[in-house]
Amino acid sequence: MTGVLVVGLGGTIAMTGAAGVAPDLTAQQVVDSVPGLTGELEVHDFRSKPGGSLTLADLIDLAELIRQRSAAGAVVTQGTDTIEETAYVLDLLHTGSEPIVVTGAMRNPTLAGADGPANLLAAVTVAADPAARDLGCLVVLADEIHAAARVRKTHATHVAAFTSPNGGPLGYLAEGRPRIVNRPPHRYTLPSPPTREPVRVGLCTATLGDDGTLLATLSQQVDGLVVAAFGVGHVPDSWVPHLAEAATRIPVVLASRTGAGYVGTDTYGFPGSERDLLERGLIPAGSLDPYKARLLLHLLLTTTANPAQIRAEIMAAAAA
Ligand code: ASP
Repeated sequence: MTGVLVVGLGGTIAMTGAAGVAPDLTAQQVVDSVPGLTGELEVHDFRSKPGGSLTLADLIDLAELIRQRSAAGAVVTQGTDTIEETAYVLDLLHTGSEPIVVTGAMRNPTLAGADGPANLLAAVTVAADPAARDLGCLVVLADEIHAAARVRKTHATHVAAFTSPNGGPLGYLAEGRPRIVNRPPHRYTLPSPPTREPVRVGLCTATLGDDGTLLATLSQQVDGLVVAAFGVGHVPDSWVPHLAEAATRIPVVLASRTGAGYVGTDTYGFPGSERDLLERGLIPAGSLDPYKARLLLHLLLTTTANPAQIRAEIMAAAAA
């Protein structure tokens, strides 16, 4: 189709109710509530869930639906709780030029100043604009345009809850037009489509005084592990033997829990430092945050068991 495909997944943008809101509006009802939304739209109800209940299988199916419809652009409406993760999965799976734009709402439709209609109008505008082509999956809320690989939900309630701490937004909307001011040099997509093979990837966050017992237990239960480390990639020294052992069996990715910046590779030399851990076989996540690194590792593990290939792909994504 030449127009924009709008796919509803639920979330606050579609939630009403007297005793606690829950998803109950159809995608068409959400579209109909937007003043000024015109143009050729194909509206599709795909899921009706809160963001936290979406699954990787849902996203693989959604990416396939978007591919099959071959619209000029696609908009996904969903719960904001997981947009930073779902948008990254769609970005990894989407090799086409047409934009996929994910949006949602921080204020539900029953509230004064509900932001869903403005966000949806902005998202459709971006999805239909040639300037957004070849940028992969974008996240549009509060008139800002973010790259899926960089965006974070950094506030629990604010209408401007989404930020891109590494590099800032790619652009913004002004007078109803998207303006891209910051184009990433390149983007990374998965080398082959993921499968639905059940794999488990653990995420373990370094915290002060943690003796590593839970890490050791977790690492025995998973096919891959992401460490959300302190600062540029540091963990308590008590974690070192556990991580060194795990890295002999499974891919272990070193990310930073700070929310911005890069994992170091060549600065600190103490036990539990980034140099120490990388020498023991951990894989640096670059600027990928732990949540995105976990999704990447999960999807890669469904396609290959080759440790060298997994390492190379994570390094490529981390450099993007
Ligand atoms: N607070 C969420 C939202 O903005 C709830 C969800 O993710 O479904 O939609």
